[in-house]
Amino acid sequence: MTFSLFGNKFTRPSAITRLMEDLNDGLKTPGAIMLGGGNPAQIPAMNDYFQGLLDEMLASGQLTRSLCNYDGPQGKDELLKTLASMLRESEGWDIGPQNIALTNGSQSAFFYLFNLFAGRRADGSVKKVLFPLAPEYIGYAESGLEDGLFVSNRPNIELLPDGQFKYHVDFEHLHIGEDTGMICVSRPTNPTGNVITDEELRKLDVMANQHNVPLVIDNAYGLPFPGIIFSEARPLWNPNIILCMSLSKLGLPGSRCGIIIANEALISAISNMNGIISLAPGGVGPAIACEMIKRNDLLRLSETVIKPFYQQRVEETIAILRRWLSPERCLIHKPEGAIFLWLWFKDLPITTEQLYQRLKKRGVLMVPGNHFFPGLDKPWPHTHQCMRMNYVPEPAQIEKGVEILAEEVERAWREA
Ligand code: PLP
Repeated sequence: MTFSLFGNKFTRPSAITRLMEDLNDGLKTPGAIMLGGGNPAQIPAMNDYFQGLLDEMLASGQLTRSLCNYDGPQGKDELLKTLASMLRESEGWDIGPQNIALTNGSQSAFFYLFNLFAGRRADGSVKKVLFPLAPEYIGYAESGLEDGLFVSNRPNIELLPDGQFKYHVDFEHLHIGEDTGMICVSRPTNPTGNVITDEELRKLDVMANQHNVPLVIDNAYGLPFPGIIFSEARPLWNPNIILCMSLSKLGLPGSRCGIIIANEALISAISNMNGIISLAPGGVGPAIACEMIKRNDLLRLSETVIKPFYQQRVEETIAILRRWLSPERCLIHKPEGAIFLWLWFKDLPITTEQLYQRLKKRGVLMVPGNHFFPGLDKPWPHTHQCMRMNYVPEPAQIEKGVEILAEEVERAWREA
């Protein structure tokens, strides 16, 4: 079987596909300790809430209606309207339904956006997506139609008390040039749990405006929903910002609903792309979100159930990590949001890819750090010293996984 160039690029094995396969295999393998993928937690109060809501929506015919009809290519009208008015009220943004488009998961929104703004242009120039701070989300790495679509900038590392550290944007070395087609940052960041500060975000916004390129903010974990942010941070939007949101980390990854908030011209472009690529985004997730907004539950549950759940879980996980691994063995990125901890095994004698393989053999899944640096131009040992772990599983599971992790780290040092 032979494929087109597009086919060759998109059918080769990728880190994101391996991650999703690990996730799926792990879900089917009894006893596997899944600290790898990005599945959100099964929060009992949220599961009960969704069960009740779906029962009611089924009884009222809303669910059946959303399954039995196509929405328009921009996404379910009713959600566009209710969400716009909710955000106008909660965030004070000057937006209407014409500023929102839905996609089948935010993952596909990034595929659209990267290839809209980067790659070869009609005038022959080639533009790139700039990640101002790597490590960045693994799911971006393969999503360019052309190779070499991404460039990224190493961070400054601030060492903090208690064996923690925090990445900052290195503005001194951040170069926005003729070939920059867009700037993109996840906030909170997957994999690190970093939340770039309001000040850093404002600076990026100013730079993007000055260079006339859009600033994409991946808000999959952020505010105002699902609200998995533990530091002081305000969401930001203006017509030069493309804010991407998702229902996944609210607890609905199977709904595959992504939300793009942007200026009207971009929304109309996305709507046209949706029509060609998928006719229309799926309607069930939007119907659920719409109902949650109407009942004033979306922001309330984010604030009172989702955020406290993750905050407690991350604190428990850090306590577990510290029972097994000292700061000399393992530094932890300050957890400010998202559902991961980013571990830095400074000077570890093996790479974290090797550590990943050893852990996998023992039934523990984590993700080695080197996949999270798309577009970094020069080798950097740090990329092979980090590991991402999901802190969503039950603490007893995490403890088992961390015990094995600590054993493997000690073994690597012993063998050195
Ligand atoms: N952006 C970030 C930072 C993510 O972590 C994820 C999923 O884990 C996505 C985007 C894509 O999420 P979805 O396509 O489920 O909306």
